Amino acid sequence: MAQRFDVTERFADGAQYIGGRLRAGTSGRRHAVVDPATGAELLGYEPAGPADVDAAVTAARRALPGWAGATPGERAGALHRFADVLAERAGDLARTETAQCGKPIRLSTEFDVPGTIDNTSFFAGAARHLEGRSAGEYSADHTSYVRREPIGVVGSIAPWNYPLQMAAWKVLPAIAAGNTIVLKPSELTPLTSLMFAQAASDAGVPDGVVNVVSGAGEDAGEHLVGHPSVAMTSFTGSTPVGRRVAEIATRTVKRLHLELGGKAPFLVFDDADLEAAVHGAVAGSLINAGQDCTAATRAYVQRPLYEAFVAGVADLMTTVRPGDPFDPATDLGPLISHAHRDRVADFVDRARSYATVVTGGAAPAGALAEGAYYLPTLLTGAPQDSEAVQREIFGPVLVVLPFDGDDEGLALAGDTPYGLAASVWSRDVYRTGRATRELRAGCVWVNDHIPIVSEMPHGGYRASGYGKDMSAYSFEEYTQVKHVMSDNTAVARKDWHRTVFGGR
Ligand code: NAD
Repeated sequence: MAQRFDVTERFADGAQYIGGRLRAGTSGRRHAVVDPATGAELLGYEPAGPADVDAAVTAARRALPGWAGATPGERAGALHRFADVLAERAGDLARTETAQCGKPIRLSTEFDVPGTIDNTSFFAGAARHLEGRSAGEYSADHTSYVRREPIGVVGSIAPWNYPLQMAAWKVLPAIAAGNTIVLKPSELTPLTSLMFAQAASDAGVPDGVVNVVSGAGEDAGEHLVGHPSVAMTSFTGSTPVGRRVAEIATRTVKRLHLELGGKAPFLVFDDADLEAAVHGAVAGSLINAGQDCTAATRAYVQRPLYEAFVAGVADLMTTVRPGDPFDPATDLGPLISHAHRDRVADFVDRARSYATVVTGGAAPAGALAEGAYYLPTLLTGAPQDSEAVQREIFGPVLVVLPFDGDDEGLALAGDTPYGLAASVWSRDVYRTGRATRELRAGCVWVNDHIPIVSEMPHGGYRASGYGKDMSAYSFEEYTQVKHVMSDNTAVARKDWHRTVFGGR
């Protein structure tokens, strides 16, 4: 595969977006954005160091009073225009996302980009609905009301699996609520986050409201999290890095929002539609090559359907076509990097000692060998406490286990530290009702797995973190609530003063 995409001219001024313009980093190092389908370098850039983070925070602080003071209608107007600019650039955004991530162009075109535009439209509308819940005389002598206010400068850190959507999930609720933001995308995939910030400026969002620092986690990331002028840290990434981020953020008592890893169960009861469950499991485990925090990773199938489910999934997986991500016929692109592909392969290779590799378990040969590809892989026979069942592999690997009674299935589904998403498959409304009540996860699908909508919250339980992305619920994260209590009596010596002055 030849290199099909040239971004060097677009980012000739650098890969940092600070105060409304692109500029180079000053860390003195060099990073490369690599096309994982070919291993070819798309862009070499100087990553952000602490001085660049400081500059971006300064730009965000300068922009804060004007943006926080804009009316909701003014902010909504800018966000509506922002959605329009993104729509005009949809093809360009999709191609760049595919080039830097290796995700199939169908996925970028039909999911990542329209999802981002829809999110932008949603927050344009939601910006006018920032509500305090109550106002009234809760004490006879006072009127109380609630103001919902921006927090300040938000520092956000995002992963590489859906770079554009993650930028949108972080930036939009923050700025819709009147905050300004410094976003640090993954150093592997900064390109569409930079384009997203440029589109905001081109739509009339004032310079400095959205800034992007492209750099490594250990220096640019930690400096942003620890920065005393950053009022809130919003992080999406793995659970181990989330713990580190939480430790640093705690030192400056920041508002903290953590969207972390997942290991979603896929629970199939014996009355489920088998064809639907098989298709759901293959699509839910292979979307984005399995690099999805909500991907179906552990299928628990009630014994009467188990053999047929395993056979159906194995058959269907072999029909999934790996290939050039820019070919519209490709179903499965490469993983994000060769290093990550090797990590996934190591998980599967270790599993050979305790489980059966029913299909996959290898990188494809031939024309795709130079890319970071890994074939759709189905494992059976893995014990519940094995790492293939317990740890996040983040690749195209599905583990299937049998269960007997409903209680056992629900217990196994709940038996990992994670709690981001889950799905339950059954035609029995009482079974699905019980499962949706008892599964401890931020999202539970019934007879489906993966779809998301801008109006509904996304976020985890337990080791998957806390806080919500998308939906009006995310305003809880990006605003602070102020109680204003105003005296109605105009009396100098108020009745309650007796508790201090006695009868005097
Ligand atoms: P990661 O945790 O390695 O990195 C995420 C981000 O954190 C990157 O920008 C990275 O540069 C930065 N980072 C790394 N070390 C840091 C440090 N010490 N201080 C500050 N920042 C640091 O995750 P990844 O490999 O980029 O992404 C995959 C992970 O993201 C998976 O665990 C996946 O489940 C998770 N994820 C979660 C959600 C969700 O909504 N819960 C969504 C997408 C991805």
